Amino acid sequence: MAEDQVHTVERTLVLLKPDALVRGLAGKVISRFEDAALKIVGVKMKWMDEEFTRKHYFDLEERLGSEVYNFTATFMQQGPVVALVLEGYDAIATVRKLVGSTYPNQAPAGTVRGDFSHYSAAASVASGKAVANLVHASGNKEEAAQEIELWFAKDELSDYRTLAEIYTY
Ligand code: ADP
Repeated sequence: MAEDQVHTVERTLVLLKPDALVRGLAGKVISRFEDAALKIVGVKMKWMDEEFTRKHYFDLEERLGSEVYNFTATFMQQGPVVALVLEGYDAIATVRKLVGSTYPNQAPAGTVRGDFSHYSAAASVASGKAVANLVHASGNKEEAAQEIELWFAKDELSDYRTLAEIYTY
């Protein structure tokens, strides 16, 4: 089998951003992941400070500039976030698919960002605020590994079997 056809069990980091919590959408968003048979293996609530925000978004300023970094840092620190580690086959790409693209106005209906927001990059410039897009999800294997290590100690992650694992795969 070619390497790109091998599907592996992965873990990925998801953050429910402050807008998801203040809008009371945490349950609905988490349900999207549970409905897709992804397994929650870690969960915590945290209020990010400047130092931790810098660690989490360590390359954002370099990638998108100081203005976007500053908007994002202010946004992420305005309230607590809920961090989740989700596990499943190709969990990193699966979660990104369920979440939709960065800018909610471009995210298709059926995705978290497409269904619960309509905000755009242009709206962000006009309002002087970050793109409030409800969730963060690791972008690739390397990012997932770094982010899980940053957010969770090993003993904060649980191994158990879901019914989906027992009966489906
Ligand atoms: P993603 O979160 O989809 O992986 P990025 O890592 O590129 O996207 O960006 C990190 C976060 O920075 C985004 O989720 C969003 O909240 C914010 N952001 C990205 N681009 C902009 C922008 N042009 N204006 C304001 N905020 C932005």
